[in-house]
Order: sequence, then structure tokens, then C-alpha cells
Amino acid sequence: MTDGLKERILRSVTLERVVGAYLTLTRRGSALVGLCPFHDDRHPSLSVHVGKQLYKCFACDAGGDLFSFVMRMENCSFPEALRILAHRYGILSGEEAVRNPMKDLPTPKKVPVINSQFSIIEREHARFLSMLSPFLPAMDVLGDTYRRFEVGVAPVQVPFAYDKLGGRLVFPLRNETGKLCGFAGRWIGVGERPADVPKYYNSPTSGLYVKSRFLYALREAADGIRSHGFVYITEGYKDALAMHAAGFSNTVAICGVAFTEEHAGLLAPYTRRLVFLLDADPAGEDSMARLSALWNGRERMEVSRAQLPYGEDPDSLLAHRGLGGMREVIRRCTRVARLETYERLLRSESLLILEQLRLALTVEERMPLLRTLSTLKKRESRVSLILRRNVFC
Ligand SMILES: [Zn+2]
Repeated sequence: MTDGLKERILRSVTLERVVGAYLTLTRRGSALVGLCPFHDDRHPSLSVHVGKQLYKCFACDAGGDLFSFVMRMENCSFPEALRILAHRYGILSGEEAVRNPMKDLPTPKKVPVINSQFSIIEREHARFLSMLSPFLPAMDVLGDTYRRFEVGVAPVQVPFAYDKLGGRLVFPLRNETGKLCGFAGRWIGVGERPADVPKYYNSPTSGLYVKSRFLYALREAADGIRSHGFVYITEGYKDALAMHAAGFSNTVAICGVAFTEEHAGLLAPYTRRLVFLLDADPAGEDSMARLSALWNGRERMEVSRAQLPYGEDPDSLLAHRGLGGMREVIRRCTRVARLETYERLLRSESLLILEQLRLALTVEERMPLLRTLSTLKKRESRVSLILRRNVFC
């Protein structure tokens, strides 16, 4: 059965697409090259041979096909690499395709693990998960979603490794293939939270969970992202859950860190259109500044933002103004975002032409350049088109 799945994956995805989701590849002659992720690479040493579908690092000697690449990147076994790829690119296993063509791959109960240390941690995680008692959110509409995401309250007495999570509201952290990587514990004490008590604690990670490489709810959002063609990115667990409960199933959350290149890499197999729902506070503004840098750095990445009213996050906004309120914010803000994108494009185009004009010495050289500058009429019609069209709603 894995043989069939392997063939199906090889028919559907190319090595360059798989590698390109993890790192930026550029063309050099007939090969594609990039910074090797398996050693501390300063000059692109990793070469991807498109014809042979093989990669090779000329510095550290790493090499192989797309399966070995994923196995090394995800630190997983071959069957697990098959499962990751099938899930990521929406490829069904033979049995699954016959039984239920619409459904995504299920998560097998038993995952072969190559690293024994990981399996011990996973067993401990599973034991801790079973200790949680169900949590009932204040709003009924959230109940099903919180259950589906296994959110619960930890008892006060917990195993030593999880002692910081005792008595907290716990969000289990599963990666895109469903593997339980860790937990986030939110403070739910009575009265005001003491200054020395953090709002969130995380369980020990041991490499299974790295904040800058983790997107909450990615597994649950995968189908939604694929069918909508874009992803909503929120800042917190509760925001993602509120969005899922409201029907925005294409939502993930970054967990208390700024959005990174690695996050973008996790999303790349699903979509390159990102819509950020960031809080309207200084931290949110900071993230946007970083995002612009990221946006400029990655090709074919379309980033928009829907800024929420001051003091609101997606969770509170949905609670206060409901689905209609959220839709209105998204509709209004994505239009603005598209205008900003257009302005940025226009500015960089114009700058380029002005730069060339500066170097042009004769009228003959200058005339064609001047003609390429977008006319006012053209700009006006483009702007009215953007204002009329709503791609995200
Ligand atoms: Zn290398």
C-alpha cells in the first residue's frame, strides 16, 4: 500500500516543489540551488537536479530524493514522510481514495518513530492529555470547537515535567500530521494575574515543538486553506479557535512569536496568500513591519492584513460583533491592503524607471522609458477595479 502511495506522490509533486517549500531555490545554469538546511551554509551549496529529481549538498555531502529530504527535515521515518507529503499535497492513499475520495488522510493511531527519545515524550504527552478535564467556554458556540481541539483544564497536581501547566487552561499542540508536540497552558486564576506569573507557559519541547516553526491548527485548517486558496493568520490559540467556530476554517495561529520564514515555509505547500488578522497594538504594528520585510524577501508571496478595531482581537471581535462584524472588518481591510500592495508595486516600478532615466543621456533613450511610466488614466482604472473586487470574501 505504501508502494502505491509512494508512486502517487512521485506523480503529483516534484522534488523542487518539496524543497522549495522549505527554502528559497534560485536557478543557476541548469540546476536549482539554495542554502543547505543540513549544515551551517553561507553560500548556496545545495543543488537540486530537476531532471534526475535528486538533491546534493557539495559541502556536507547530504543527498537523495524527495523522501529522504523530508525524512531529514522532519526527523521522521519513511512511512511518516509519505504521510506528511500525502497530507500536505492532498494526495490520498489507495484505500482511502476508493473509500472516500473527498476525505483527507486520517491520522494513524500508531506512528513508527525512529528516535526512541521522541516516542517516550509522545507517550508522556498522551498521558498528560488524558489527565485534562473538559473545558466549557463561556459562549456555547465555541463548545464543539474547543472539544475538537481537545482543550482542557489541567489538574493542580501534575507529573513533574508538566508542573508549570498545573491548574491552567491547556491547548494541546499538534503539528500538521497530528503528532502531539506539546502543550500551551494559559493562566485562568481568579482576580488579577500577578506580574511574575506569565499568561502562557509551554510544556518542555525536546525538539518536537519549536515556536518559530509551529502553526497552531494547521492540521485542521489544511482543507480549508486548500479550498479557499488563502489562509488567515491570527496571534493566539483562542483567536484561531473562535475563527474555526465561526466557520473560517482556513485559520492558523502563530503562538506568541513574530511570523518567520519558517512559518511561511510551512504554509507554502498549501498557499502563498496570507491574510493577517493582527491586534491593533504596538506588538501588532511591529509584526507588520517584519512582515513587509518578509513580503519583499519572498517571491510569489501575497501578504495582506486586516487590521482589527483598536483593543480587539479576533476572539473578542467575534464575541462582541458576531460573524457579520468580522466579515465587515475583513472586507474593508483587504480592500485597503490590496490598494497598499498596488501602491508599493507602482512605487518600485516608478523608482526603477526614474533610475534608468537618470542614466539615459539622449532623448532617444529617454522617450521609451517615459512611455513605460503608467499613465494616470491607467492607474485610476486599476484602483477602481481593486475597490470593486473583493477577493477574500
Ligand atoms: Zn550541506
